[in-house]
Amino acid sequence: MDCIFCKIVNGDIPADIVYEDEEIIAFRDLAPQAPVHVLIIPKEHISSLDDVDASAGHAELLGRLTAKVSGIAAKLGLNTGYRLVNNCGEDGLQTVQHLHFHLLGGRQMEWPPG
Ligand code: 5GP
Ligand code: ZN
Repeated sequence: MDCIFCKIVNGDIPADIVYEDEEIIAFRDLAPQAPVHVLIIPKEHISSLDDVDASAGHAELLGRLTAKVSGIAAKLGLNTGYRLVNNCGEDGLQTVQHLHFHLLGGRQMEWPPG
């Protein structure tokens, strides 16, 4: 499968990895939108949030992923908060078709988003 994030998971292309365990990996975004911008992804290829399948164990996987966000943020020094973003599909401006969550921090965020 020609998926750039699967290639990062498999070590086929390099990435600045900040956290890894048996089922998730977090690495710095190539085009950071904040002083800290990390992508947190399941190692399993799930194309998008629209492709999450509870019958395939994805609900538990994403529950565990979510539970790890706080620890990853702390490791990156995000002591005063952060933002977790998922872009899904065309209107959401998803550009990489491997489920990922943007962890953004290190500056005051704005709301609403554009
Ligand atoms: P999306 O637009 O799908 O929500 O986010 C995809 C993100 O992946 C973008 O922020 C983009 O900068 C990042 N990205 C795309 N290709 C690579 C890559 O090869 N390495 C890394 N580290 N980030 C990438
Ligand atoms: Zn993939």
